[in-house]
Amino acid sequence: MALSGIQIYKMLPQTNCKECGFPTCLAFAMKLAAKQVELSACPYVTEANKAQLAESSAPPIRLVTLTGAAGEVKAGNEVCLFRHEKTFYNKPGLFIRVKSAAGVAEADSYKVNYVGMDFSVDGFAVEADSPAAMTETVKAVRGATKRPLILLSKNPDILAAGLAALPGEKPLLCGADASNWEKVAELAKTAGAPLAVSADTIDSLADLTEKIKAKGVEDLVLDPQATHLGKSLALGTQIRRLALKNNRAVGFPLIAFPCNAADELIAASQAISKYAGFVVLSEFKPELLYALLVLRENIYTDPQKPIQVQPGIYEINSPRPESPVLITTNFSITYFAVANEVEGSGLPAWLVVTDAEGMSVLTAWAAGKFDAERIAKAIKTFNVADKVSKKRVVLPGHVAVLSGELEAELPDWEIRVGPREAVDLPAFMKTALN
Ligand code: SF4
Repeated sequence: MALSGIQIYKMLPQTNCKECGFPTCLAFAMKLAAKQVELSACPYVTEANKAQLAESSAPPIRLVTLTGAAGEVKAGNEVCLFRHEKTFYNKPGLFIRVKSAAGVAEADSYKVNYVGMDFSVDGFAVEADSPAAMTETVKAVRGATKRPLILLSKNPDILAAGLAALPGEKPLLCGADASNWEKVAELAKTAGAPLAVSADTIDSLADLTEKIKAKGVEDLVLDPQATHLGKSLALGTQIRRLALKNNRAVGFPLIAFPCNAADELIAASQAISKYAGFVVLSEFKPELLYALLVLRENIYTDPQKPIQVQPGIYEINSPRPESPVLITTNFSITYFAVANEVEGSGLPAWLVVTDAEGMSVLTAWAAGKFDAERIAKAIKTFNVADKVSKKRVVLPGHVAVLSGELEAELPDWEIRVGPREAVDLPAFMKTALN
């Protein structure tokens, strides 16, 4: 049961000693209630109150970490149902299902750049039908990738063989069900590895997790068995709602298997959106993976912090002093839209990126974050005049209204109004700037 800030405050020492980094115990209590600080930051909580406060301040969805030979994948710690209520924190890990090491090296080296960020797969889910085959496959896969692994089997001996081939790692054991949970839980406890639990109803899942937790395994992942998209959506949503109401029996990340669905792209998109922490794909398909990685990024960025690039002057296609000076904002997608069009055209240009707090051109203009004063300041701060022989700047067409004010701010510069869309920039540069 979650406690309010006031209830938490009553259980704190109320001395306002500030050692937790907050000016008062009440301020710390409010942060604790919002799950934004750790209880351990206050060294003076009595043992009697610790257990109750720790339970109350724990995130509603437990953070589960898979550790590979290098790197880790985390899922959980989410605190809301809808992204816009706050943000989603830990992106679901995308895993490729494999029965051998074939293709693993290729998938492991896959890297794609999206608005300045590099994306790749997160790990591999290894499947085998005997202990010997699991040992052999895990060793071969480990030779091709260091990323975290999921071990897929209902047979405790097969899972044990996989674990033995991964010393020092914490793969996800997937997993336990009503028929094998005691043996698999023992295995997970001994190895300290997280364990996925499957059942086809929420009650059955909750029953299993309670029994497994009583055996001493805390790092659990839920695998709700659904036969179609509608059911998986309903189960995923109901579990998230219950978890956010502090139902600890289902307060764990989910794992989804779009690899078993008729339409893998739709199933994986649904899983990423609502609410998987681990997503297992059938094979390495760059065209599928790229779409999912971009979708994931867009859902898991903080809605209050747009993706930004560093303000500054960017050189495109080795500009010369007579090359044009283009202006845009530091919203990543805007920057890359402009930069990619100009770069693709082969035309040299100086691209001045102004600090518009990560907003696109029109949004920033409407919010007063992209005006003549800011543009002039950027031109001066980045010493653009020292780089060019022709003092001429090109404004985005959407803010043509700023041209008069900019002339006043930069009296010795020629102000030109460019096209509204980045795609029209190359033609504009060829025809209007010569
Ligand atoms: S460290 Fe504890 S006692 Fe001191 S101000 Fe913070 S909450 Fe209060």
